[in-house]
Amino acid sequence: MARKCKCKKCGAQLTTDIAFKVVVKGVNHYYCNEPEYNKLQAYKLKRRNTMSYIFDMFSYNSDQLLPPVMIKKINVLAKTYDYDVIKETFKKDKKTLLYWWNLENKFTNEYNKVSYVMRIIENNINDTYKSMRIDKKQNEVSRSKVIIQDEALTKVKNIINKDISSFIEEE
Ligand SMILES: [Zn+2]
Repeated sequence: MARKCKCKKCGAQLTTDIAFKVVVKGVNHYYCNEPEYNKLQAYKLKRRNTMSYIFDMFSYNSDQLLPPVMIKKINVLAKTYDYDVIKETFKKDKKTLLYWWNLENKFTNEYNKVSYVMRIIENNINDTYKSMRIDKKQNEVSRSKVIIQDEALTKVKNIINKDISSFIEEE
């Protein structure tokens, strides 16, 4: 018999017969549907990917964690920006970030250093977002050009075929 359950992602009230079920370490997790679950997994993967990039960039060891203030600030940014944009901003500003990061005697503690570095990210992320959006648009434009070219080519082919067939018919 179907029992009541709750979507792990959005909290919607569901029943076990219609919910999408995933078993994790022997525990049933329910979601509204499979696309919702897949979208969440893709998001988590992107987040993990971005965090590990940042982790490696600042040369943390595997027995360390990212500073809480950094995680907090990244989480705030992630409410507005995609994790791809966050990662790209770190990537683009890598040189500058590492310069400040490795500057001796500049910061009295890790908190100040992280805050400083995150301020650079916060100042530059909008530029990254815009340039990524422009890149995406240009990709879309060039893709639609290809489609138009394909259509034009099909038209030419049709005309050629027609000419040939009329030629054959005349014979
Ligand atoms: Zn849901």
